[in-house]
This record gives sequence, structure tokens and C-alpha cells, in this order.
Amino acid sequence: MNRIEAIGENRPDLVRATVGFSVRKEAEASLPTEFGPFRIIGFRGIDNGEEFVALVKGQVSADEPVLTRIHSQCLTGDVFHSLKCDCGPQLQRAMEMIQENGSGIIVYQHQEGRGIGIINKIRAYSLQDEGADTIEANLRLGFDIDQRDYSQCAEVIHLLGARRLRLMSNNPDKLKALRQAGFEITERVPLEIEPKEPAYRYMLTKKKKMGHLLSSIF
Ligand SMILES: [Zn+2]
Repeated sequence: MNRIEAIGENRPDLVRATVGFSVRKEAEASLPTEFGPFRIIGFRGIDNGEEFVALVKGQVSADEPVLTRIHSQCLTGDVFHSLKCDCGPQLQRAMEMIQENGSGIIVYQHQEGRGIGIINKIRAYSLQDEGADTIEANLRLGFDIDQRDYSQCAEVIHLLGARRLRLMSNNPDKLKALRQAGFEITERVPLEIEPKEPAYRYMLTKKKKMGHLLSSIF
């Protein structure tokens, strides 16, 4: 039985299994996309009200490794097709890869600008216009290099029924966070986009200062 459908629906064993979680499933529907059909599932933080959206395709089981991505919201990249970062093409590539694979999960996390929010991200871009790199800009605004917390994303993946992951990410922090949350990472699936000129410095900074696993830039 598909555990996604089962959660909260006439399966007291699974409902009991969600006790102790800080997110809960709120809604589910089908979502046809340019890349193929997905299920879209909404979760909400029980205490903080934070919303999470999961795109899910195919069967998710605890036994088989599941092709998975945590994608952090990037309004400028995902929606406006900004060339300052590789987020938009990464999201599209992840959807294509899940479509090709026949199954998988994308958790979309609303932590814009590595957690600083869109207005502060625009402030950081303004500092970058004056020469700062992405990390210097965050620090000058009084933020950490990366404010993101993946623990509730991990809970969403857990509630969807996956336990073993083929994780689509270049970010060692995400790999570490999911391992600490109890998942077995059977494979890291690189998600590298050939950088266009405006994104080059940003990606070089992520590689050199944040340890991102990028082979396409030196
Ligand atoms: Zn971005």
C-alpha cells in the first residue's frame, strides 16, 4: 500500500507513528507539470506554522532508495529566472530526473535566501552590487552564512515513507543533516548546472567557502 495515501487515513498504526513529529500533512492533490504528473502534498509545522510542499511521484517505500531533493525556495531563481544563482535550473533538472526515474520526492522549503528572507536577500544583492560576495553580504547584514534548518524537511521525507535516499544535492550540510535525522544516504546524485557568467562568482564562493561539491567550476 502506498504509505503516502495511508498516512492519517484509516491506518491507526501509521497515525501513531506520526506522534512526536513537528509537521503534519494538511492536503494532497494531483499536479500535472511540463515535466510530467506529480502529487503535490502540503505539510505545516504544528508549532511554527511553516509551510512545506512536497512533489511526489510514484511509489515511496522504506526499503528502496528514493530519489530525493530538498529545494530551498529561491524566488529570484525559481520564478524570475535570475542568472545570479543556479537554483531555478536545479529545480527543473530535479523534476526531470524524477520523471525519468519514475519516482521520487522534492521537498520545497520556504527558506528564501538561505533563510534570511526575500527583503534581506535583496539587501544582500545590493551589497553584492558593490563588490561583496554572497557570504560577506550575509555576514555584513548580521546573519550567519547559512540560516537554514533541515529538520522539518527531514520529518516530511520521513512522513512520506522514505528511509533510504539517493539525495540530489551538492550541499554537504544537507547530506549531513539527513544522515543525522536517521536516513541512509545510499548515493549522492550530483545536480550540477553549467554556470552562466553572473552565477559564476556565487557558485565559486559556495564551493570555496561552503564546501559545495561542484566539479564544473575550478
Ligand atoms: Zn537561487
